[in-house]
Amino acid sequence: MGPDAWQNVLKRLVGRIIKDSERETRQVLHRQRDFIPLVRKLSERTLVGEKSISASVAQRPTPACHAGCYWCCYQRVDVTPVEVLAIADYLRSQWAPDELAALQQRIAVLDVKSRGLNNEQRFLLRQPCALLRDGLCSIYAVRPFPCRALNMLDAQVCRDALTSGTLPNGPSERIQLDVNFATQIGIDAAIQRLHLDNTPLELTAALRIALEQPDARERWQHGEAVFQPAAANQELTNSAYANMVEMIQAGW
Ligand code: SF4
Repeated sequence: MGPDAWQNVLKRLVGRIIKDSERETRQVLHRQRDFIPLVRKLSERTLVGEKSISASVAQRPTPACHAGCYWCCYQRVDVTPVEVLAIADYLRSQWAPDELAALQQRIAVLDVKSRGLNNEQRFLLRQPCALLRDGLCSIYAVRPFPCRALNMLDAQVCRDALTSGTLPNGPSERIQLDVNFATQIGIDAAIQRLHLDNTPLELTAALRIALEQPDARERWQHGEAVFQPAAANQELTNSAYANMVEMIQAGW
């Protein structure tokens, strides 16, 4: 399949993922169902979509990312309320109370340092995500979709970026990037459609709120802007995300 042909296939796949993700999320919000199974389901579908297109792409590049490589976990992660509430539910159900209390302390310390920073400033802090434990993501099963999306073909680029203090800038694998951001865009579209507050949130600050305020979901679903203090510093630094937002706005 030539480059134009597979890009058209990818475009159709992304459109389908956005629609599916929007529909599934809206149903869960409407029926007050749990967010953990929703995130798992959406991530499985995203993977299935990714595999389906892989067969059509000759010589798809392989990202260098692997367990124990965590250079990207120093960046700012922008999330939807659904993703952050799923992580909070997961932590409450899986972690022992003393572990959770220690995590909340680490999150509070990091939040003070990182609140309101843009992506570059956040990276320059050289402080890893509070959810990183022993070099691994401690909430891997429900990690945010940008964490699933971001990848790099050369891990050295990420390592060097952290040492030199510049954002990683190198080739990445396009399909993984697009399908995961598409899933997040679908979640966001469902939130908008139900007229709930869909301000993009910074992960650390939003998770602090979700963990400190057990009624956060209820209040947010009643239309309260409970996560507003965690609003992400709003310049869209990821061009893939910005392009897809444009496509959605154009009625894709
Ligand atoms: S949530 Fe997990 S994958 Fe994402 S930045 Fe934090 S530790 Fe890394």
